[in-house]
Amino acid sequence: MMKRLLALALLLMLLCPLALGEGERVIDPKKPMIALTFDDGPTENTQAIIDVLDKYGAKATFFVVGNRITNFEAALPAILKSGHEIGNHSWNHPRLPDLTMNQINRNIQRCNERVSEATGGYTPSFLRPPYGATNKTMYFEAKDYKLITVIWSLDTLDWDVRNADKIYKTVMENVRDGDIVLFHDTVPQNIEVLERILPELAAKGYQFVTVGEMFSFAKEAPKYMAKYSNLYPEKRNMKK
Ligand SMILES: [Zn+2]
Repeated sequence: MMKRLLALALLLMLLCPLALGEGERVIDPKKPMIALTFDDGPTENTQAIIDVLDKYGAKATFFVVGNRITNFEAALPAILKSGHEIGNHSWNHPRLPDLTMNQINRNIQRCNERVSEATGGYTPSFLRPPYGATNKTMYFEAKDYKLITVIWSLDTLDWDVRNADKIYKTVMENVRDGDIVLFHDTVPQNIEVLERILPELAAKGYQFVTVGEMFSFAKEAPKYMAKYSNLYPEKRNMKK
């Protein structure tokens, strides 16, 4: 009996990666989901972050800064190859509301162009304005590129604390269904944090989805002239 069970388990282990190939991800909306997001990359940590996410079958969104792509260009196709998503985090990380209309437009455009160049034609669907700073002009210019503005509902403050235990605690004590969680590629401690939170949250039923996947479950399609911080705004107000 044990032998047969063991053989069956082995067979399933062999078959599962094939059965759940790319494009066949099943997300259960009845189970909790969160969107992990990584800002300010690509950096020397991006590949290691991708590797941990892949180890646990988690998908995430990387909001990249256009003028930082050159140094870690290979990270961009690697993000897509593993089924993650790339978002626009501007060309050079300014406070967009401080710029003129034309400057905002160009800043967003240059990031999109650079992403496209590095990936062979990928176009982001989401904009994360640096510092979460928005205004009406910014929304208008983002709309030009069909970008939905997304901020976050759970800030790990990783860039500030730079301590794996503290980041881990912030996530585990505050995380809720539908959260968009803010991390940064610039913080190497996040690799250890992911090693800890991914299996623990998965054991609680959490699914790790891209921002695009998350919004496919939104009650209504996201609009251009607004910002979104989580899937269930009625359940949770923005926490910063
Ligand atoms: Zn940033």
